[in-house]
Order: sequence, then structure tokens, then C-alpha cells
Amino acid sequence: MGAAPLDDASFIADHRTHPDSAFSRVLDRGFVELLDTLGDDRRCVAAARVSLRRDQKSLVDDSEAQMKRDQGLLHRLMADRHTSPFEHAIFQFRVRAPIFVVRQWFRHRFASYNEESGRYIKLEDEFFLPERLRERVGKAMDYTYADMAEPENGQTLDEIEALYEQARGLYERLLERGVAREHARMVLPVAQYTTFFWTVNTLSLMNFLNLRNSPHAQEEIRDYAVVIEDMFAAHMPWTHAAFREHWGPSAIR
Ligand SMILES: Cc1cc2nc3c(=O)[nH]c(=O)nc-3n(C[C@H](O)[C@H](O)[C@H](O)COP(=O)(O)OP(=O)(O)OC[C@H]3O[C@@H](n4cnc5c(N)ncnc54)[C@H](O)[C@@H]3O)c2cc1C
Repeated sequence: MGAAPLDDASFIADHRTHPDSAFSRVLDRGFVELLDTLGDDRRCVAAARVSLRRDQKSLVDDSEAQMKRDQGLLHRLMADRHTSPFEHAIFQFRVRAPIFVVRQWFRHRFASYNEESGRYIKLEDEFFLPERLRERVGKAMDYTYADMAEPENGQTLDEIEALYEQARGLYERLLERGVAREHARMVLPVAQYTTFFWTVNTLSLMNFLNLRNSPHAQEEIRDYAVVIEDMFAAHMPWTHAAFREHWGPSAIR
């Protein structure tokens, strides 16, 4: 099962679209690639200043004194929840993730999405298989998760993998019989990998990180949120620092 090479170098060579893009593998066969950005910390500050018809020095003056003023204003904006200036910096990602993760992701409505089409293309033979299954421990409303012990873990994963093979086999047979792709895909599990474009402004990105880089989020989407937060911090270090200072510390680090 699964056509994608799993060693890092060949996986990256296969999936990264540009040699300089920020790219991180996630889960067993997923990834996040930062394709492009528009604006940065100081562009958001410039957007805020326009409201008072103030000069736009943050667009042109790179002196230390100006930078300090800009950073101070940016922290103030975040602390006061004056959020609209952060809509003026934009991130564009390419993401590959299992459908059950993407289903949670697409609940974040303030973003633009395009996903590969199971109607028009044959889906790839790629399903998410964790190394360790989680068990729910404790009572309803008061439970935690724990790794399933061996040998149950390995035995159960074998059963899941057998189901993936069966489902994939049926998918292929349905296509051979002439069943339309849009119907044949019905038999595939939600562990099926898919790829999508995600273009999101910084305010909505922070909302996503607040909810998904959190212990309350499912671990698999959190794994994506962690690498996205690193990419965000690398591109907009002032905004990221102010976000974590004023919207609460990161759940992860
Ligand atoms: C741990 C966790 C568990 C979850 N469990 C479930 C679940 O069991 N079932 C389920 O259906 N969803 C569930 N969700 C999804 C959740 O309810 C949100 O839909 C999702 O997190 C997107 O958040 P958002 O609405 O803030 O983001 P966006 O859709 O990007 O919206 C951003 C902000 O815009 C505003 N906004 C957007 N749309 C509207 C609107 N129609 N009216 C008013 N204001 C709006 C809100 O302020 C919102 O915070 C869960 C999310 C998390 C993190």
C-alpha cells in the first residue's frame, strides 16, 4: 500500500514545488509547503497607521528608532484586539493531509481553499497509518488518551491496513468496471490523503493556531498546526511573539 517513497530526501524531492520554499513533512505521508506570502509585520503596522492618516514610515524607514516604534504599536494592536491590520498579511500554503484532518481544517471559514478532485482524478493509493493507536482512558467528560500497548497495537494496525488494501482494491475494481470516479471514491476510508491550497490572512491564521495548536485539538491536526506556527514565526516574528504573549502561550512549546 502507498506509492510515495518514505525516506525524507526522495519524499521532499517528489512533493516540494520550489527548492527554496519552507517545507515540512507531517504524519507519515503528509506535508505543509509555504508557497508564498504577502506583507509582513511592518505592513500590518502601516495598515493600522492609515486610520489616523499618519505617515507610512514603516513602509520606507528601516532605522532602529522606527522599527522600535513599529514593534511597540504592533504589540498594542494585539493587546487591544485591534485585529483588522493583521488581515493585510497573507500566507499561501500547499497541504497534504488525510481527509479526516482536512474535514476539521475546512471548518475554518475565513480562508480560501482549493482541493484535488476525486471526481476528475484517480485518488492516490495513500492512507494515513499511525505508529501507535490511541486509547481513551477514563469516563466520559473526564478522559485522557494513552498509547495502546503491544501486541494489541500492532495487531489492530494490521487489521486497519488490511481494510485499506481491501478498500483500495475495490476502488480499483469499480473504476475498471466503468463506475465513475465520483462514485467509486465512496468506498475509500477518511484516512485517504488529499492535497489542497490554503490561502489565509494572518488574523485567521492566528485563530486557527489558537484552536488547533492546542491540547484540545486532535493530535494529527495539531502536528500540522505546529509546523505552520513555525513558518508563521519565521516570517512574522513580531506578530507571532505578540500573538503568543497576548492570546496565551503556545500549548506545545
Ligand atoms: C477542539 C475542537 C473541537 C471541535 N469540535 C467540533 C464538533 O464536535 N462539531 C463541529 O461541528 N465543530 C467542531 N469544531 C469546529 C469549531 O466549532 C469551529 O467551527 C472551527 O474551529 C473553526 O473555528 P472558527 O469558527 O473560529 O473559524 P472561522 O470559520 O475561520 O471563523 C473565524 C471567526 O469568524 C467569526 N465567524 C465566522 N463565521 C461566523 C458566523 N457564521 N457567525 C458569526 N461569526 C462568525 C467567528 O468569530 C469565528 O471565530 C471543533 C473545533 C475544535 C478546535
